[in-house]
Amino acid sequence: MGKDSKKRLYTTLRIFTIAVVLLWLAPLLWANQIEGKRHTDFFEVWTWSRVWLSALFALAGLFLMIKFWVSRNVRFISLVLIVFTFGILWTLPLGSFSDGLDLHPTPLCTIEKPFVFLSTGSTIPIFYLSILAAIVILNILGNKLFCGWVCPVGSLQEIVYRIPLPKKWKTKLPFRITNTIRLGIFFLFLILLFSTGTSIYGYSNPFEFFHFEWQPLTIAILTLTLIVALFIFRPFCYLICPLGLFTWLIEHIAIFRVRLDRDKCTKCNLCLKKSPCPTVPSILDGKKLRPDCHPCGRCIEVCPEKALTFQSFSFKQQNEKNQAD
Ligand code: SF4
Ligand code: SF4
Repeated sequence: MGKDSKKRLYTTLRIFTIAVVLLWLAPLLWANQIEGKRHTDFFEVWTWSRVWLSALFALAGLFLMIKFWVSRNVRFISLVLIVFTFGILWTLPLGSFSDGLDLHPTPLCTIEKPFVFLSTGSTIPIFYLSILAAIVILNILGNKLFCGWVCPVGSLQEIVYRIPLPKKWKTKLPFRITNTIRLGIFFLFLILLFSTGTSIYGYSNPFEFFHFEWQPLTIAILTLTLIVALFIFRPFCYLICPLGLFTWLIEHIAIFRVRLDRDKCTKCNLCLKKSPCPTVPSILDGKKLRPDCHPCGRCIEVCPEKALTFQSFSFKQQNEKNQAD
């Protein structure tokens, strides 16, 4: 594919993403205007502890990333804290604080269930849309801040991936393949849901584990996910999660993201060797259309030249201007 075609494809994708977000917001705002109560409920959801704590974790992650403070140890402590806060803390007797942390709806359900309601002709409960809106806002602010700094299933997979195994056993699957599978599963979900009423995501939701109802299917799904996570970085995120697919689209309009300063880069390829994701080659090649980056900070940490940063557009432009001066 030529450079111009790639540029056109990327611009189309960005316009498509903005259109998807607007198309999703417009009916919501319209519904809010005709039903005042829905409007109140929409913002009331953001007072739930899981929503404001998500914002707190995401902002802390953003701050640490910008400041180059995400070392391997800091990341590990963060991952454990994320799993504890968003997966386990709700079980403690802390009154309304714990109630507000219950993983209902699960992050996966915020994408799945609205389609399930639509397929049965029912109204979508406002809290699904409200929670999804909070996730979208965080992910527009910083590249996949929710997936990387809030999601307990993503964090659990990342912890498991750190278990040392012979290097050749750790695999990076080509993004073309993983994204095609993820997209294919999403379309299969839509076809089966609207033709037979069956939701395939309902049978493959590892978040259900954190309800601690000890359902054999849920335990099996999470166990399988974690076994694969020994060899592949965040397999559920790259291969199955519909929220991962949605937030990958939003990555293309994210304000803060990993950026490369070509003048500083010595092409030592250390970031390429040390990072667990399939994303770094696209960053080094300057490709606009990249695989998912769950901002783990690894590539930024290992770069000896500080050529990789987590920056916004304005910082990047400011840097370029400073260099030009
Ligand atoms: S590009 Fe990869 S290594 Fe770098 S922050 Fe994103 S996920 Fe981590
Ligand atoms: S580690 Fe830094 S200097 Fe080396 S290739 Fe990556 S971005 Fe360039």
